[in-house]
Amino acid sequence: MIKIIRLLFVLPAYLCNRFFCLADLGEDGRGARYNGGMFIDHVNIHVRSGKGGDGMVHFRREKFVPLGGPDGGDGGRGGNLIFEVKATLNTLSAFRQNEKFAADDGKNGGGSEKTGRSGKDRIVHVPPGTVLYDAETGDLLGDLTTPGQQLLVCEGGRGGLGNQHYATSRNQAPRTAERGEPHEERKIRLELKLIADIGIIGLPNAGKSTLLAALTNAKPKIGDYPFTTLEPNLGVANIDEDTTVVMADIPGLIEGAAEGAGLGHDFLRHIQRTRVLIHMLDGLSEDPLADYSQINSELALFDPKLATKPQIVALNKIDQPDVQERLKNIKASFKKKEVELVTISAMARTNTRDILIAAYQKLADVPVEVVDETLPVYRPEVDPNQFEITREDDGNWRVTGVAIERSAKMTYFEHDGSLRRFQKLLERLGVDNALREEGIEEGDTVYIGDFELEWKD
Ligand code: GDP
Ligand code: MG
Repeated sequence: MIKIIRLLFVLPAYLCNRFFCLADLGEDGRGARYNGGMFIDHVNIHVRSGKGGDGMVHFRREKFVPLGGPDGGDGGRGGNLIFEVKATLNTLSAFRQNEKFAADDGKNGGGSEKTGRSGKDRIVHVPPGTVLYDAETGDLLGDLTTPGQQLLVCEGGRGGLGNQHYATSRNQAPRTAERGEPHEERKIRLELKLIADIGIIGLPNAGKSTLLAALTNAKPKIGDYPFTTLEPNLGVANIDEDTTVVMADIPGLIEGAAEGAGLGHDFLRHIQRTRVLIHMLDGLSEDPLADYSQINSELALFDPKLATKPQIVALNKIDQPDVQERLKNIKASFKKKEVELVTISAMARTNTRDILIAAYQKLADVPVEVVDETLPVYRPEVDPNQFEITREDDGNWRVTGVAIERSAKMTYFEHDGSLRRFQKLLERLGVDNALREEGIEEGDTVYIGDFELEWKD
């Protein structure tokens, strides 16, 4: 037998919509920080999808027929909230801290089997290289790198079914329909780290930081102990008025680096994402060719893919007479290995522009790695049918759970048919039995979401 749960009152829908009164959780504000010279831009925003429109209870009006058949239309689906990479953006400065973005709700169904209009998706544009986190849990949601790449973070609610779907041979005039599925909402932290196109590699002291400072806006420490920063320094170099490339000075690859000695996650990220490497050699070194092969074997050990990246090999410090003297011999030794050598002075800025242009031209030959274009929907890993029963201090009961709360929101409690479907769900999920086992009694109050119900056995 179906247990009757009588509705006491229903909160108005606009009070159930908690999105616009979400308390600010007071985390660190928006801003940018410098981290070893790397620019990190970050901001927290609120996003929500659209709620599904409600299905309608409606009957056909026909001439001379007092009550026509059910013709209540379905609600439209709510819009999705989607992030999309836009190539022309390069900072997060367009976002305000705690800014809200919402997709449109679906419209309610109408009479004459009219389906409500779907809510429009909301597309939020972000620059390439934006990493999205759930601001509450810290979970990584996605890493948006390629122009046009999308990430769906809140799915629009399904539209509720109109009463036209509920007619049966026994019930020709169903007074039941379904409310739209609720929206999803979340707080998102956006982080932008510039992604380097060109990496500068080489032994400590080769002049990597000096070259980066010569070519870009970055101000790395020169002659710095190579491991004082475990993250690469980044700078933006201008090719011409409209074109820029991002360069990273990747600190000290050393013996043992392949085993991960002291190198941070950002180091890996950057070196793996660079497409062209400038391999700096110290002209004052005893054996530049030995340095060259040492770095290359370490690269290969670190990640075989790194060894396949195109390199431009630069012999640095040619302003030094000692280097000038040995230049012929050094060049000959590289020629034997069929390695083309560019001679530069990062300090005196001799040939530095040439090396930038050469690296930039090589970039065109190396495709940006294709990323998976699917749209993952992030879902917490809990069984939606799970529920929990708690007894509150005043003796009232509360049932919490994803499916049960969602379906309460989708129920028209004022319609018997709709209410009965809800009761069946309570039975199917085992909520009824669980409440009875906990000792619920006639007349007790049960809260589900924003609804207050009375228990009747
Ligand atoms: P990194 O360890 O590869 O980043 O090397 P740095 O850029 O910090 O340079 C190491 C040292 O070499 C510093 O003292 C620089 O001033 C010096 N240096 C860098 N480039 C040149 C150059 O072209 N000529 C000369 N003479 N010294 C240089
Ligand atoms: Mg350095």
